[in-house]
Amino acid sequence: MGIRRARRGRRGRDITEIASERIRILFERAAGAAGEKDPASSKRYVFLARALSMRYNIHLEPAHRRLFCKKCGSYLVPGRNLRVRLRPGLTVTTCLDCGSVSRKRTAPRATRARGNEPSPPQSPKAAGEESESD
Ligand SMILES: [Zn+2]
Repeated sequence: MGIRRARRGRRGRDITEIASERIRILFERAAGAAGEKDPASSKRYVFLARALSMRYNIHLEPAHRRLFCKKCGSYLVPGRNLRVRLRPGLTVTTCLDCGSVSRKRTAPRATRARGNEPSPPQSPKAAGEESESD
C-alpha cells in the first residue's frame, strides 16, 4: 500500500528513491558500528534512517524493521542486546536495553512429530507484519 502523497507536484519519486538508498546505507553502517561494539553510533544511524523514513513517508522494509527496537531505537544484536524466544507461530523478542517486548506472528511450522495435529490453514499472508497505522 504505497501512500503516495501528491504534494508539491512531482518531485516525489526520485527523492524517495534516493532516501531509500540512504536508509539502506544507514542500516549497513549501523550494522558495521554494531560489529565494532559501538552501540552509540549504530543507534544514531538507526535514528537517522528512521527520521528519513518518516520524513519521506517510506515504509522501512521488514528486514530493516526487525533490526532495531521500536521503543528506544537501539540497533539490536541477538545475544548482545536482544533476546529471541521462539514459540510455535510466535517470535518473542526482548530488547535488553529498554526491556520492551515485541511479539511477531510467524507462520506456524508443520509439526509432524505427533500425528494428531490438524493441518493449519496455509494462507500466503499469514506472517503478520504489524502495520503501523498512522
Ligand atoms: Zn529498546
